[in-house]
Amino acid sequence: MTLTVRFAPSPTGLLHVGNARIALLNWLFAKAHGGYFVLRLDDTDRERSTPEYEAAIREDMRWLGLVWDRRISQSQRLERYAEAAERLKAADRLYPCYETPEELEAKRRRRLAAGKPPVYDRAALDLTPAQRRKLEAEGRAPHWRFRLEEGEVRWDDLVRGDCRYGAEHLSDPVLIRADGTPLYTLPSVVDDIDLEISHVIRGEDHVTNTAAQIQVFAALGAEPPQFAHLPLLTDAAGQGLSKRLGSLSLRDLRADGIDPMAVNSLLARLGSSDPIEPVARLKALIPGFDLGKYSRGTPKFDPAELAHLNARLLHGMSWDDARPRLAVLGLTGLDQGFWEAVRPNLETLAAARDWWHICREPVAPVIEDSEFTAQAAGLLPPEPWDAATWPAFAESVKQATGRKGKALFHPLRLALTGREAGPELKVLLPLIGRDRAAARLAGLVA
Ligand code: GLU
Repeated sequence: MTLTVRFAPSPTGLLHVGNARIALLNWLFAKAHGGYFVLRLDDTDRERSTPEYEAAIREDMRWLGLVWDRRISQSQRLERYAEAAERLKAADRLYPCYETPEELEAKRRRRLAAGKPPVYDRAALDLTPAQRRKLEAEGRAPHWRFRLEEGEVRWDDLVRGDCRYGAEHLSDPVLIRADGTPLYTLPSVVDDIDLEISHVIRGEDHVTNTAAQIQVFAALGAEPPQFAHLPLLTDAAGQGLSKRLGSLSLRDLRADGIDPMAVNSLLARLGSSDPIEPVARLKALIPGFDLGKYSRGTPKFDPAELAHLNARLLHGMSWDDARPRLAVLGLTGLDQGFWEAVRPNLETLAAARDWWHICREPVAPVIEDSEFTAQAAGLLPPEPWDAATWPAFAESVKQATGRKGKALFHPLRLALTGREAGPELKVLLPLIGRDRAAARLAGLVA
């Protein structure tokens, strides 16, 4: 059987780094084993799911480079869930319940007050057909619970090891709401069966769901997949990252000029025994990928670490990798020499645009000593200019003025670029060109 995994976001918000990590680790696992990667949109909650969030998820996944082999939407598969529900009813594993949310809450409180675990008391199992008819005649529509079997649910988790869960600690999960729509637990299992998902890699917030879902797999006559539950990322203070907390959304990171490979480089290794380092290509993260390297400890996501990784990635980025990214920013016409000159100065790719504009658009020069810069302007050689122009020009200014070192270079740089520091002038000067250089040295905006 081919290994198949899925990433199953709900289109009820933007993806954040925590979701991206789960997506990436699923993708890497599939690629490391020659398997398939499915994108499953868990959009059965029609009130909260939106086409905009769905489009944003797809865009973010493409941005990261996590191409899926197949995509499904749960809202398109409602018939399959209804069929499965009928099978469970026929097998006497799905039973109707009539409690209102308020009644359930009151029961929960009573149990807690009595020192009992707040699991559902299964009162609905004792209803006679006549009592059910009466409740329905009162206008109550049933929701449906899956009847868990007693005993220990056990699985060998690829991250957590041997997991055991006593079913008595769980409430019979509601699979069908009173309005007839399915809740997450059932569609997830039906899809995992139909798509022959071999490995479910998800956050450890799903561990209890897994215990219940393993019984649903069995009740539907299927073998459960293998499970891997990863600890959820927290922020630097140890707080959970909420999906609705926009600040760490992939969209915002993209807007902040963070490269997708900086995100991938960090998320692929965070919480694992492999070192975190800038990796230029997604494919390069595949060899050696092993879920066994991920620890059960809570990994902390630090935006400063991401920013640092992003800068390191840019400093070593090849022209081949940079060119398409610069084109996305609308920067064309640059060459390898320009890229190699500016990259050591970049924190984000967008800063390359600033340097390009310094070469090509009007800049206000900073004049420290107008006599000196005017004298230098008179020494500019005629064009054409190339990489040899700057050293020759600097040498002639040195000869003519007797200045050297910082006293020579700093005022020239300030006048020519308007900046204190930056890429090598030998690369910038030919791009600035003689007209602009002469004007800037004369103190004019050019
Ligand atoms: N939609 C669920 C979530 O986002 C999917 C969980 C799963 O992987 O089964 O948490």
